[in-house]
Amino acid sequence: MTETLRKGWCPGALAPMLSGDGYIFRLRLTNGILPFERAKIFADLARRFGNGAVDLSARANLQMRGVAGENIADLQDELRALGLLDADARAEAVRNVVPSPLAGFDPSAPLDARPLVAALEALLAREEALHDLPAKFGFSVDGGGFLPLRGVETDIAFAALPGAPSRLALSLGGRPAGELAAQDLCVVAESLARNFLRLRGQDRRMSAVVARLGVAPLLEGVAVVAPPPTREEAAAQYDNILGAQPCGGQNFVGAGLLFGRIDADALEALAEQAQASGAAELRLTPWRAILAVGLERAAAVELVPRLSALGFLLDAQDSRLAFAACPGAPACSSARGDVRALALALAPYWSAQADRVHISGCEKGCAFNSPALTLVAEADGYALIDFGLAREKPSARGLDLAALRSRLTSLAQGMRV
Ligand code: SF4
Repeated sequence: MTETLRKGWCPGALAPMLSGDGYIFRLRLTNGILPFERAKIFADLARRFGNGAVDLSARANLQMRGVAGENIADLQDELRALGLLDADARAEAVRNVVPSPLAGFDPSAPLDARPLVAALEALLAREEALHDLPAKFGFSVDGGGFLPLRGVETDIAFAALPGAPSRLALSLGGRPAGELAAQDLCVVAESLARNFLRLRGQDRRMSAVVARLGVAPLLEGVAVVAPPPTREEAAAQYDNILGAQPCGGQNFVGAGLLFGRIDADALEALAEQAQASGAAELRLTPWRAILAVGLERAAAVELVPRLSALGFLLDAQDSRLAFAACPGAPACSSARGDVRALALALAPYWSAQADRVHISGCEKGCAFNSPALTLVAEADGYALIDFGLAREKPSARGLDLAALRSRLTSLAQGMRV
């Protein structure tokens, strides 16, 4: 049991992580598939064992919060009985594969990524040598189509090539590295992971190894051919994720989670409403949104206001979508402020189309790992980093709410000019 109680661990169901509000349990659901009954069970467990808060992570994993230490074993027993626990904590931790959220429901996708994701996860769980991969090391398998995995950074990324359904583009640490046959994905993934482990030294992420050595040593003995043309990568836009969206002959409804969080009652109600509307199932995405897929058009349109009433974000113009904020105080013991309350107070002074604003409870910057207009809570107000990371040097300090409103108002006006 001691292994499961380590503070600072990337959380799992077998390795819960201690936070300010209790232990965090994270479930890695293969292909992000969340059947209605499973969503309701998860909501029930979050209420009974946790504090009722449910998070959707940037890797499309679902987590419950606020679990008391003495309840860990009972919760694990229930998850085990549902078939939701891995063989051990290391096998669980290594199954970091971001899937295509519409796989199997999107006829415009060059390939159905589901079998590839399932095979890759099975390989990672099975091969003990790969359990030495660092905690945050991750993969993605992007089937392309209506919702490609834009803005999702993983260490080893496979992406379908338009017009070539049996071929995949490979990126290592965000850098194009080659092209391979889709059927070779597992062989290539294993070779790359082993090469990374051999070459990584003290580095924990592929991008650091690529920056130090380039991609060539990592490709040694790996069956890939020269890189394809660089794909245009853009940050994910909510315009084609949230609300009722046509996709092939069907529709889906994308429901955004404010700061990636809802409560268990809302998750359960989402499952019930989507099921009653005739949706096939729920899909988790890496963009803090849950999709109800396989809907008729009229049912999708009718579902939108019902999910909005539950507190989900259905409108891509909602300025709250521009804010990233970590749990902050009191959930995290390192936090120096209630950053989510501040984000809600500042949202009316910003717009969904403006630059991303990252508000962080401390310099660690858990909520957003790219440069942004960043505010960091300090003992005497907020520090401002004009465009950077939470750990970088601020251009101003000691800002209170009034000063921040004024700053954002003038910045937003400047952007509109
Ligand atoms: S950024 Fe700091 S305060 Fe926020 S969750 Fe991470 S460690 Fe906690």
